[in-house]
Amino acid sequence: MAGNVTFTMIKPGAVAAGNIGAILKIIQENGFHIAAMRLTQLTPQQAKQFYKVHEGKPFFEDMTNFMASAPIVAAILTKENAVADYRKLIGATNPAEAAEGTIRRMFATKISDNAVHGSDSDENALIEASFFFPSMERY
Ligand code: ADP
Ligand code: MG
Repeated sequence: MAGNVTFTMIKPGAVAAGNIGAILKIIQENGFHIAAMRLTQLTPQQAKQFYKVHEGKPFFEDMTNFMASAPIVAAILTKENAVADYRKLIGATNPAEAAEGTIRRMFATKISDNAVHGSDSDENALIEASFFFPSMERY
């Protein structure tokens, strides 16, 4: 059975562009509950740990350094079928391929700066949520 938790980050480019509010509004309008949220900045080591599955890929260094370059918003979202529904709402990894109306289509500039992160599985959603938030900071 699909879980009801996913994890998102609003990435440095979207934060710097002043799109935190607009993105959170869309998230809430689409039925996601914000169970935890924080504005924070990752260290390069933390970004490399978070994206460890991509270690060795050609974009790994630049992508993790970018993720650590400025503040992000980290949040736990809950909803029935959260992981799949949120992936659908954010759209394809490459914003040029993201469907009309998706967050990445609306707010991303390029694949390396694609506005938001979304968990790819229930298992990773729980790992990613725990990376940022202890249980006492979830509501
Ligand atoms: P997603 O974020 O859609 O789950 P991935 O997990 O495959 O995508 O990749 C993690 C992040 O790495 C992407 O969101 C994107 O910012 C970056 N990325 C992925 N592929 C590339 C690429 N070919 N070139 C540059 N950056 C990439
Ligand atoms: Mg991914």
